[in-house]
Amino acid sequence: MTEQHILLIEDEAPIRQMIRLTLEQAQYRISEAADASAGYQQALTLKPDLILLDWMLPDMSGPELLRRLRDDPQAHRIPVIMLTARGEEQDVIRGLDAGADDYLAKPVSLKLLRARIKAQLRRIERYTDHSADSNHRLITHCMTLDLHAQEVIVNQQRFALGSSEFKVLQFVIRHPGRIFSRAQLLDSIWGQNSFIEERTVDVHVMRLRKQLKQYGLEQCIQTVRGRGYRFSEQACKDSVT
Ligand code: CA
Repeated sequence: MTEQHILLIEDEAPIRQMIRLTLEQAQYRISEAADASAGYQQALTLKPDLILLDWMLPDMSGPELLRRLRDDPQAHRIPVIMLTARGEEQDVIRGLDAGADDYLAKPVSLKLLRARIKAQLRRIERYTDHSADSNHRLITHCMTLDLHAQEVIVNQQRFALGSSEFKVLQFVIRHPGRIFSRAQLLDSIWGQNSFIEERTVDVHVMRLRKQLKQYGLEQCIQTVRGRGYRFSEQACKDSVT
């Protein structure tokens, strides 16, 4: 198994050193950046498996850098854990809204940090379809996507979706919790040079929800006002309990 590569963007050298030592002991490969612009460059060139991002950086705030990463087609899939000195709820919400996958309050518990990193990387593996020898399925709590047949399986019942609806669902399921604007969905699903209008995305999402509704799963695709759409893992879990 290849080493997993983590990019640590943090301006305080003692914290970087402490985290580096811990993660190297846990067999991860670490790259470091001491400010946001270096971090941004490294995220694009090194394509790490995960980014640890400090909230306060000298040249740009962590959430702002995160937003840039999320807007960049080369980096938007990389899971990001934010490190914040301020554990207040508002900040946590801001961080998650900016596209963080998880957050940890400082002073960081190294044990917790390792556990959270492991959980993020495992989740990515789970949501990534592997080569042809695997069975090409994306599995969530409430549904399974059969990528070969382009069908959704709920309670052992299979149903087909339109090709665009299936693509939207597949895409948001791979990035649970993350909010995607119409423009981001367009770029990611249809490509940057497509001639599809942003409103078309709404139509596909509407159709998708309508189909999911028959199985009580319409809440899984949430609209975040003024921001876009996301797949809610919580709603997915709730629907099966
Ligand atoms: Ca800092």
